[in-house]
Amino acid sequence: MADAIISMKEVNKWFGKFHVLRNISLDVARGERIVICGPSGSGKSTLIRCINRLEEHQKGQIIVEGTEITNDIRDVEAIRRDVGMVFQHFNLFPHLTVLENLTLGPIWVLKTPKAEAEARAMEYLERVRIAEQAAKFPGQLSGGQQQRVAIARSLCMDPKVMLFDEPTSALDPEMVKEVLDVMVGLAEDTGMTMLVVTHEMGFARKVADRVIFMDQGEIIEQNTPDAFFDNPQNDRTKLFLSQIL
Ligand code: ADP
Ligand code: MG
Repeated sequence: MADAIISMKEVNKWFGKFHVLRNISLDVARGERIVICGPSGSGKSTLIRCINRLEEHQKGQIIVEGTEITNDIRDVEAIRRDVGMVFQHFNLFPHLTVLENLTLGPIWVLKTPKAEAEARAMEYLERVRIAEQAAKFPGQLSGGQQQRVAIARSLCMDPKVMLFDEPTSALDPEMVKEVLDVMVGLAEDTGMTMLVVTHEMGFARKVADRVIFMDQGEIIEQNTPDAFFDNPQNDRTKLFLSQIL
């Protein structure tokens, strides 16, 4: 793919003897939204964590914005700046206020002046509709609010790609929608490239350009959301969908 922002070629990874990623080849176009689904343990988290080098692959090639991910630490720093990540369990700094969580990276990593970092942070907090919580600590917020803070924190680093690893699966049901709404807004209002591990099919149908199904470390099937959900081809995909729908 000529304009791929992420290009994975025959990527393989092992945890000890366990072959967790098997010949993963995946090109992500700039601005593309991909939803990744599949059974627990199929390698979804490992796959996206390889894209910002939270996990190391042993074979194959991963190129992000023209930079190959290698053991050269300078490359890893460049890639982490380009690739934001939102985790299932928010991973906010508990001892910092919401505002401080958002300004820490810009001030210390991007060397943004404090006043400017704070002004931008407030803009992003407004965008995720939580500006009134800026002075609170994460523990004083609901799970849905914390996850929206985590998304805003990631956006403050001005990433080119956002990775989401089951961002709503640790939330109480009534909070899922407020987080998905923020993610839909991000997709609709910006050209952000997004890779989202989720089983939220409504979100996938609304936002995804492509749905990828993984099982046992392999990409088994991929298609547009409507074709994927309405007319799955592989028996393993059919079984999976019958269990979650
Ligand atoms: P998923 O996100 O699809 O549930 P993961 O990528 O988290 O799957 O894990 C895939 C497999 O790799 C699972 O069997 C898991 O137990 C194993 N695994 C994940 N992380 C590690 C690790 N750090 N060491 C050893 N095995 C791991
Ligand atoms: Mg996972």
